Amino acid sequence: MPSIIALRHNRSMLKSLLDRLRPAAHVRIDDDLWRTTLDSLPFVARLDHDDRRRLRDLAQQFLADKEFAAAGRLQLTAPMQVSIAAQACLPVLRLGLGAYRGWTSIVVYPDEFLVPREVTDEAGIVHEYVDQLAGEAWDGGPLLLSWADARAVGPEYNVVIHEFTHKIDMVNGDADGLPPFDRRLHPRLAAGRWRAALHDAFERLNAELDLIESEIPPDVDPDSPEANRYYARLPLDAYAATDPGEFFAVSSEAFFVSPARLRDAFPEWYALLAEFFLQDPLGTAGA
Ligand SMILES: [Zn+2]
Repeated sequence: MPSIIALRHNRSMLKSLLDRLRPAAHVRIDDDLWRTTLDSLPFVARLDHDDRRRLRDLAQQFLADKEFAAAGRLQLTAPMQVSIAAQACLPVLRLGLGAYRGWTSIVVYPDEFLVPREVTDEAGIVHEYVDQLAGEAWDGGPLLLSWADARAVGPEYNVVIHEFTHKIDMVNGDADGLPPFDRRLHPRLAAGRWRAALHDAFERLNAELDLIESEIPPDVDPDSPEANRYYARLPLDAYAATDPGEFFAVSSEAFFVSPARLRDAFPEWYALLAEFFLQDPLGTAGA
């Protein structure tokens, strides 16, 4: 007698067969729009002709797979979506879009947005506060971006790469700085080696940060522009010292947009990132 489980199983097999037969949705990025998008992203200038074509193919498939939504009063335009897609696809140029599996939505805000938070301290008291964010990646949920920040592709800052790197990290659980390794693509990467290099670089950055903070005169507010010249000595944005997950995301931003400083400060960590992303922005680590 066929069981309900068997019937369900047959149905899901049929559904997966139909899904496979159904032509995949396709988006084509206009030639002029693609050109102006790449011109606005100086860090993709290093890509050769084949890699640019690969980035465009990925961005087109990305736009077909993901759903964009506008928050606030933002008018979400094609150039915004293509810019976000191009930046998001750079880290997965060789990993493929499977690195962004398990979630669909990208919510774009006009500017920084506010997120209410609650933390419970050791005494059990709940503290409520509001975070002002340029981007956030939710585990299993949407990715949120401020367009004002996503378009500001500075030499050391890239909120799109930052948040999408968190998404890659979350494929195998928490955003803890240990992304998933693929046996075929990463035959030499192992969690132990990765964690040791990450820990070493993270601790060194924290030690440098402690030293800098001890040198800031007491009459200078650490959050003021005046304190920035002290923090400028750090090889990475101080936010990387928050935890290993943020270290991975901030150093991945640097890896793609200002790689030389990262390589000089943390050569072993740089080489591992090149091995993971299967790209070497400086063309030196043999990736
Ligand atoms: Zn982050």
